Amino acid sequence: MMRWKSVFAAAIAAISLAARAAPALAQSAPAPALQILTAARILDVETGRLLTGQAVLIEGERIKEIGPRARLAASGAPVLDLGDVTLLPGLSDAHVHLTSSAEVHGLRRLTVSIPRETITGVANARTTLMAGFTTVRNVGTGAFADVALRDAIADGEIPGPRIIPAGYAIGITGGHCDSNLLPEQYREREGGVADGPWAVREAVRRNVKYGAEVIKFCATGGVLSKGTKIGAQQFTLEEMQAIVDEAHLLGLKVAAHAHGTDGIRTALEAGVDSIEHSSFIDTAGIELAKAKGAFLSMDIYNTDYILSEGEKVGILPESLEKERQVGRRQRESFRAAVKAGARVVFGSDAGVYPHGDNARQFAVMVEWGMTPLQAIQAATIMNAKLFGREADIGAIAPGRYADIIAVPGNPLDDIRRMEAINFVMKGGVVYRGANAPSSN
Ligand SMILES: [Zn+2]
Repeated sequence: MMRWKSVFAAAIAAISLAARAAPALAQSAPAPALQILTAARILDVETGRLLTGQAVLIEGERIKEIGPRARLAASGAPVLDLGDVTLLPGLSDAHVHLTSSAEVHGLRRLTVSIPRETITGVANARTTLMAGFTTVRNVGTGAFADVALRDAIADGEIPGPRIIPAGYAIGITGGHCDSNLLPEQYREREGGVADGPWAVREAVRRNVKYGAEVIKFCATGGVLSKGTKIGAQQFTLEEMQAIVDEAHLLGLKVAAHAHGTDGIRTALEAGVDSIEHSSFIDTAGIELAKAKGAFLSMDIYNTDYILSEGEKVGILPESLEKERQVGRRQRESFRAAVKAGARVVFGSDAGVYPHGDNARQFAVMVEWGMTPLQAIQAATIMNAKLFGREADIGAIAPGRYADIIAVPGNPLDDIRRMEAINFVMKGGVVYRGANAPSSN
């Protein structure tokens, strides 16, 4: 919280450095017309090569060229040299809940209004950006608060990552994406509840009408919902096909929350683009995901937080019990999926655990079978493919947004460096650590 002031001062300093008169700005200033960013190393995430002696020429919000430092400097554009750090593309997270607070779970969530949640989302968006995550998919929130956040960020009113919002998560009556905490007389029901093929099509259309850019639905029970079985499928194949067909007609990707083996398989047969959680995926499921070109998003750091802090923050005893069944199994499934060459992306479920700690998942991904490069690719080029945004994000490459972060040392030698991000640029604007790394 306290840091924002100094970060903001640093951002202004960077803009001045870029020879642009610093305006009396409210939040984010426009990117300089032309600037050069350089550091000891640049990671090419496609090949894993570390480039030295190179620089990035940035025009407005996009990357124009990568080339030898001396040649680019001849253009006369101001140079920001970060010194002994490694530049990487801005990270992305396929599964966050920006409007959820990790300190508020279970029955406590019933006391939080949507306007209040939205303000929580403003703070979490900033925290997420400062942790180096420049693009996130927000997979489910009430009243299109995620669409409002996306727009406020895009308008420069508040700092935050690029957001791909889902609006309401679609689910069956009484399922994981419904609210089942109150007795019947309260008529409590989540906004994305829909039963039957035409009702789910309508739910997709409503989400799109109000600004969703991805469709999320719940294909099985979940850990944190009351009264749902993690292994049990929710929605029939026919309903899932209707969701996927309608979303794809409208040009949106589909993310299916699924823990249980049958729900995972049925969602894959229905043609979803990603399985979220993927906990009990079996060999046949992994092969089906590969054959269908579907991505697997597995939140394998999350367990540590739920089991250590869950009781304190109000997570229901039945949910803690479910997490005990699912945690280790999900990590084993992750290892099997990586070994089989499935397309595993980076999705953390931040919001269940504290926003800003997203990068802690990298070390767990490496512990459970990925190389450091694969883990970084999961949060850059793989997510960009899943989102259908390879032209814009995922690599430091000409034409893409100048979303660039820096870490001290070499993250390929020590993946925990990803938790020490000390520079964040989004769209050519510096949000964190613009001065020399020694000042960070
Ligand atoms: Zn989630």
